[in-house]
This record gives sequence, structure tokens and C-alpha cells, in this order.
Amino acid sequence: MHSPEIAEKLLAWYDKGRRILPWRESRDPYHIWVSEIMLQQTRVEAVKPYYDRFLKALPTIQDLAEADEELLLKLWEGLGYYNRVRNLQKAARVMMEQHQGQMPADYDALLALPGIGSYTAGAVASIAFGIPAPAVDGNVMRVFARLDADAEDILLPAHKRRIEAELAELMPADRPGDMNQSLMELGAMVCLPNGAPKCESCPLQDLCKARAAGNMTDYPVKKPKAKRKIENMTVFVIESENRLVIRKRPNKGLLAGLYELPHAEGFLDETGAVEYVRSLGVEPLQVKALPEAKHIFTHKEWHMKGFSVKIDEIRLADALENGRLTAEFLIAKEEIEKKYPIPSAFDAFMRKEKERKAIFTK
Ligand code: SF4
Repeated sequence: MHSPEIAEKLLAWYDKGRRILPWRESRDPYHIWVSEIMLQQTRVEAVKPYYDRFLKALPTIQDLAEADEELLLKLWEGLGYYNRVRNLQKAARVMMEQHQGQMPADYDALLALPGIGSYTAGAVASIAFGIPAPAVDGNVMRVFARLDADAEDILLPAHKRRIEAELAELMPADRPGDMNQSLMELGAMVCLPNGAPKCESCPLQDLCKARAAGNMTDYPVKKPKAKRKIENMTVFVIESENRLVIRKRPNKGLLAGLYELPHAEGFLDETGAVEYVRSLGVEPLQVKALPEAKHIFTHKEWHMKGFSVKIDEIRLADALENGRLTAEFLIAKEEIEKKYPIPSAFDAFMRKEKERKAIFTK
């Protein structure tokens, strides 16, 4: 049982020093929903420009429901976890069909929408509609684990349900949205995840069991996760003067429907790289190794070798004419910038165009 003082102290602290964030200035449920989905797994500073751009391009739920998939993925490019944006659109379509294009002002109806779990339903319900629903994410669980010196594994679903029930008990009827946000803010700014929390600035320091025992960083307790699977691959940046070879990923699975640089399984040496490029139907003019890169997903890691490959326009035209290389694979670089979402897993190779030029002029 928690002291009701927690809510009082948190709200007083929040009123004094809360950060000004674009989505906190809005009571529009659509805006709050988009921001909450973006903020899952992404830092506040990184989200800001995406949030503005997304709402400018898709100002209403109807715009989102009707948006072209490529525009949607382009607006999300770099944020990662693309299922988030796909679910945003699915949920927008459900709202068009079942809720007159509005977010429902009801916790259970929000929870029933694609991509909305108990945290997001609680955040939207409380912030936009003033419904006293708890919004418990990793930040909030960390704060509670330390407050209570609670050694239960926070990854257990039952643990989250218990914290939700405890927070629901504490919820002030007049300010549920601020209560949830003050806890999120405390987790983000004071009761920090890595390194020592800033207990001396914490409004709950007198109530905190971990602080009293001086072992704050022992909490929260998380059972170690299964090791990520490692996939080795060789990535190809195949380009002529103005065009780059890209291809579309399958419509299912990891990074579904996005575009990518062609790549082969395993680590190839230069001979293997030349063979691979020939297998695409073009003759390489020059092949140079690029610095290796790594990208970490939730369950796997890509370890990537890379090759920069120059092909010339004349041979390219010939390959296209003879149907060896399909036109959809060869896209003008400026078109890629505008229209073709390429996941950040390939950033190390996509952003190094200048460096690649330098290699070739050496
Ligand atoms: Fe977290 Fe320290 Fe506050 Fe306890 S006193 S809740 S450990 S910041």
C-alpha cells in the first residue's frame, strides 16, 4: 500500500519543473497517441522533429487512415520498429469505421485498437480524456521497483499488472493525466535507468526504500534476456553516376515492405563480391571494401561487411535493355531521398556516399 503523499509530492514537483514538450501542449487525443507511439523505444529529442513532420503531413486520423504506405514509411524512416506506424494506420482505419474518425474516449475501446497496449491506452485516456487510468511503462516500473525495493522480475506480465493496480489506487481523480506524466518525467529525468539516479532532486526521496538502503541501482530486477541471434551479411552499394541499386523487402517479416541495399548472406571476399554483382546482371567497373557496420534489432544483430561497386551508365543501359537488371531496382539517388524508405540498419552504408567517393578518387 502506497502513501497518498506520493501523488501530492509528484504533482507539486511536476508543476514546478516539467519540461515543455510539443505533445504536452496539446490535448488532442490524436496528437497524444502519435507522440506516445513514437516515444516507445525512441528518445524525446529524437522524436520531436518526427512528431512535427508527421502531423503536418497527416493532420487528421482520416489522413492517416488514407495515407499511401510509402509516405507512411518515409515519415517513419529512421525511427525504427516500423510495425508501430503500420499499426497506427490500422487503428486509424478502425476508428474511421467504428468511431466516426475519432479516438474513443474509453479505456477499453482504446485498448481494443491495433498497436495500443495498456500503457498507451492509459496515457491517451488519462491525458486526453481525464480518465483515471494508469499508464505503466518501463520508466514507471523502475520508479516503483526502487520506491518499494521490490525484487520481483519486472519483465513478468503479472508484475506490470500489479503495478498498474497500485498506480490506479493512487490516481487523483482531478489530474490523472498529470499524475501519469509526472511519473514518466521522474523516470526520464531523475530516477534514471543507467548509472546513479539523482535522488537528491527526487520529490519522493523520503518515501523511497532503495534510497534508504543505499542500493538504488540494484533495482529494477530483470532476468537476463535470451541472446540475440547474429546474422553475418555482405551489403552492396552498387551505383552509377546518378543511380543506386535498391530493392524492396518482402511484405512480411523484419522491416517488411521497406527498401534495402542488396546483400548476400555471410561475409564475401572481393572475388565473391564481384560474382554476386555479376549475378545481378551487371559488370562491376570497380569494387572496394567499405568499413564494417553493425545493427542491433530486438532479437537479432546484423554484422555487415560492405562493398562499394561502380557500374557505368552504358553497361547499365545494356543490362536494363536485356532485362538482366529490372528497372525498379535502379533508382535515381534524389528519388530515393524523397520516396523510398530505407531502414536505418543501412545508415552506415547510405550515409557514406562522400566517403565512398573519396575511396574511388584515391
Ligand atoms: Fe528513484 Fe532515488 Fe527517487 Fe528513489 S529517491 S525514486 S531511487 S530517484
